[in-house]
Amino acid sequence: MNMPEIIEKKVQGQKLTKEEISYFIRGYVAGTIPDYQASALLMAIVFQGMDAEETAILTETMMYSGDVVDLSSVNGIVVDKHSTGGVGDKTSLVVLPMVAACGAKVAKLSGRGLGHTGGTVDKLESIPGFNMQIDNDDFIKIINKVGLSIVSQSDNLVPADKKLYALRDVTSTVNAIPLIASSIMSKKLATGSQGICLDVKYGSGAFCETTEKAVRLSKAMIDIGKQMGRDVRAVITNMDEPLGNAVGNILEVQEAIATLKGEGPQDLWDLSLEAGETLLLQSKLFVSKKKANEALREVIRNGKALDKLAEFVAAQGGDARYIYYPDRFEKAQYVVRIYANKAGYIQHINAEGIGEVARKLGAGRLKKEDPIDYTAGIILNKKVADYIKKGELLATMYTNDDKAITECEKELLEQYQIGPDKVDKLPLIYRVMK
Ligand code: URA
Repeated sequence: MNMPEIIEKKVQGQKLTKEEISYFIRGYVAGTIPDYQASALLMAIVFQGMDAEETAILTETMMYSGDVVDLSSVNGIVVDKHSTGGVGDKTSLVVLPMVAACGAKVAKLSGRGLGHTGGTVDKLESIPGFNMQIDNDDFIKIINKVGLSIVSQSDNLVPADKKLYALRDVTSTVNAIPLIASSIMSKKLATGSQGICLDVKYGSGAFCETTEKAVRLSKAMIDIGKQMGRDVRAVITNMDEPLGNAVGNILEVQEAIATLKGEGPQDLWDLSLEAGETLLLQSKLFVSKKKANEALREVIRNGKALDKLAEFVAAQGGDARYIYYPDRFEKAQYVVRIYANKAGYIQHINAEGIGEVARKLGAGRLKKEDPIDYTAGIILNKKVADYIKKGELLATMYTNDDKAITECEKELLEQYQIGPDKVDKLPLIYRVMK
């Protein structure tokens, strides 16, 4: 077996065998297959695709290229949730305590955010004392006791993906369904959960621009789950504007807390309920969506979901007083209010652009080692389809960087389209697939 033959087979549109796929992944990780041959094969995959079986083999081989978490000592079915990434997406901080309060066992490995705004790791680390670096024994203990643990993924989680993703990034080979699906799923499967709920975003702020692509990606990931004996379901959601009103780490934690008190924005609540129902069905704790829905509403009403967030934060070293008294969080030095420069309906908000402004205010990073200002971010005072008068409050920026303010003020306004015509919001949840 050699790489020119494997590349040629894929160029001709033929199916690769398990041995050929393993030969490629093992050789590439070991450094015996050079970047130019790997790039050629990736490009052939972009054009010729891979079928469900090849994609599952690729995923499994990548998954076993590094650490795999063993969750067999957790009592009960373990579930996990993953979002393909969106601006203002703090759903995990809401839905995971909700389902844990209903009895689910949740294990999540998270990464730091790059670009737009922080990832779940950064949001949680904005809570004083919170510790993401927990060893495997404590991870399992917390899941068994509290029902929920979230830790940062080790550097040795799917090293094949780290190396391949870096190559895809510079060879224009990111955008191929089998490559995206295997990249995401190899990391999710290595975490060991039996049930995985994927929030697949589409729209201007998302990785999939259209519903059609989001459906194809979801199907590919569900199929990988089927081939590997895991229950994978996908909630396809719109990301044509940021989720909720808050963008930025502490601001998002505060919005998640408000939502757990039943006082959050509607879109975040709707998505948390849908994902929560899915996770409870996957946990086999409920047999109907209706019953799962009732249980989720009940843990909001009786405060158990908020208590669960506090319990989880305390179990990982965080100061739970911040959960009950979110006003204690540190505040940004500068608060800049942005007013509408004309009247009309908000027709569109560029989610990616909002994320980028939040990053410039200090909420995100460009390079892995860049520091984050947890207090920085944006509150959107108006969302798509709202009417705004000239001079009314559109958004509020929070930052400690006075030099960023003038540029960000201008750029923030540019992210809104305001016009005389009423617009209908697209439904947040497009489809649930399994
Ligand atoms: N996210 C991933 O982890 N991998 C991809 O290929 C795309 C998005």
